[in-house]
Amino acid sequence: MSSVEELIQSRGWSDEEARLRSAICEIGRLCYQRNYIVGADGNISARLADGTLIITPAGAMKGFLAPEQLAHVDLQGRPVDLGPKASTEVGIHLVSYRERPDVRAVLHCHPPHAVALTLAGIDMQIPVIPEIIVTIGGIPTAPFGTPGTDELAASIRDIVRCSDTVVMQNHGSVTLGANLLDAYKKLDMLEHTAKILWIANCIGTVKPLPADAVQKLLGTRTELGIRTLNTLENQCGRGGGSR
Ligand SMILES: [Zn+2]
Repeated sequence: MSSVEELIQSRGWSDEEARLRSAICEIGRLCYQRNYIVGADGNISARLADGTLIITPAGAMKGFLAPEQLAHVDLQGRPVDLGPKASTEVGIHLVSYRERPDVRAVLHCHPPHAVALTLAGIDMQIPVIPEIIVTIGGIPTAPFGTPGTDELAASIRDIVRCSDTVVMQNHGSVTLGANLLDAYKKLDMLEHTAKILWIANCIGTVKPLPADAVQKLLGTRTELGIRTLNTLENQCGRGGGSR
């Protein structure tokens, strides 16, 4: 028996739990390598079939985690084993899973370009990039909420109901997915869009695509079989916001 198999057996993890614990560590390494987090920033979670969550622990560097260092909590944030204590920003994850029964993974990071745009007051909802318009629509900004308090989870509640991507004012990103890779893909898209907007704002004036071009792009969603939540279709973060 390998040391990994011995570890799984000694902890009593199901195959699903063991797989998700490894995947969270892998995504943490990716986020760290891509500079989406530094130091002990960010937190990553996944929902098991029984409704409980595996989440990164408080204070740890998420780029260097091992499966046994993760916390296991229920949907109220209460520990379900004697393992490590959950992230202090667990509220972001709890509100996302409670509002969205379809979501199985949540990533909270501090991607520098996206956060910088919130400091500069640049809206990531502006329709400029075809791939973003067709898939997620745009990226709404949540009002500032004090980290470590209930304000933070409350600040994103209305947006996560109708969007898979959020930037939190002066703070970071939250991306929701059907699985960890899906949530990571949206984080990648969010920060890449922020980089393009940053460069464009440095060298000129950014103009949205005309409304008819946006409608034409949204019209391709049916043809292409794209069924993702789209903030241009549901007006999320623009006074609308039904799913
Ligand atoms: Zn944070």
